[in-house]
Amino acid sequence: MRSDRAESASRRLLERHGVGAEWARLKGSPEQPPIERGRWYPIVDYDGTSDLVTLGVSGSEVEAACSLLNLARDLPEKGVVYHDSRWQEPGSQITYVFVCPKGHARPDVNLRSHQIRCNECERDYQWEREKPD
Ligand SMILES: [Zn+2]
Repeated sequence: MRSDRAESASRRLLERHGVGAEWARLKGSPEQPPIERGRWYPIVDYDGTSDLVTLGVSGSEVEAACSLLNLARDLPEKGVVYHDSRWQEPGSQITYVFVCPKGHARPDVNLRSHQIRCNECERDYQWEREKPD
């Protein structure tokens, strides 16, 4: 059950940004800890004056500028892939991280396959690159 607060946030996002969004994900960098890159979070509130979105992040509420977020009405079916140098061993090839729609991260994935396995969900997902715009 969605709260009235989330309901009204979705309505205001629709007026302002054209998406009645219930979910948001970081576009990529800059990182906004504790929001994890590649992961979708439920939208709890939206302040149209400051254009700040409040996300539910592991039981707490965290604000982020709307300009840093991808918005979605429904939790997408596809996972996301990004390059993260933190996972990279010195001298190794470029490493990509896959995050499934439920937020499980897995480093060092092979981008030649159309689907990537999430071992925690025990299923394969289609994937896309981060959407910086
Ligand atoms: Zn998963």
